Amino acid sequence: METKEGKIIIIVAPSGSGKSTLIEKVKEDFKNLEWSVSFTTRPQRAGEVDGVAYNFIPKEEFITRKDQDEFLEWAMVHQNYYGTSKKFVESKLAEGINILFDLDVQGVDSFKEYFADKAKAIFIAPPSIEALKDRLLSRGTDNLEVINVRLENARLELLRKDDYDYCVVNDDIDRAYDELKAVIKEILES
Ligand code: ADP
Ligand code: 5GP
Repeated sequence: METKEGKIIIIVAPSGSGKSTLIEKVKEDFKNLEWSVSFTTRPQRAGEVDGVAYNFIPKEEFITRKDQDEFLEWAMVHQNYYGTSKKFVESKLAEGINILFDLDVQGVDSFKEYFADKAKAIFIAPPSIEALKDRLLSRGTDNLEVINVRLENARLELLRKDDYDYCVVNDDIDRAYDELKAVIKEILES
């Protein structure tokens, strides 16, 4: 019997929308979804484990891997490089394993070019730009300069919120998570 290819689910959102909070819940609840650990040159934040949140690598190594065509897609986001391992994705999908991705808008564009409608993108929108700023300030992981770059990017990303397969507004976390769960179940059962 032929193995059914795994499903591709992408979560895309402006920084501070609550994407990581929601993704943690998804990882906990959906044991039939494997997390794609991206490579990044961004400095590791307190509490992040190398090889779990990301594979943290120096810029030189990232460029070597990119030149060796190891990334399915890569992008420069907030002045750091991020990339998805081609080998990981191709082998898991072939084994019939569903994969969950956290990508920026450029990454989603690359996935849509590569996988077309097979890749399902869920946009997580903040209730407003003001709420986004408050969340980034209260998270306390980035300085004001970094927060301002992220808010500028968020304004542009929000213009594209209707371009994705689904959109979930993260107003109240429990309500948003219930909606996200329903969307993921629908994709996995399709
Ligand atoms: P992202 O991964 O999108 O950058 P986070 O998940 O780190 O965002 O969330 C940013 C901050 O907002 C965190 O401090 C988080 O606890 C908080 N947060 C997340 N969702 C909500 C929500 N629905 N209401 C209020 N605060 C939230
Ligand atoms: P953060 O540094 O806050 O974890 O992530 C910053 C941005 O990089 C987020 O928008 C996230 O979705 C994006 N990102 C994380 N991993 C990848 C990846 O492998 N490829 C792309 N294109 N974007 C990524």
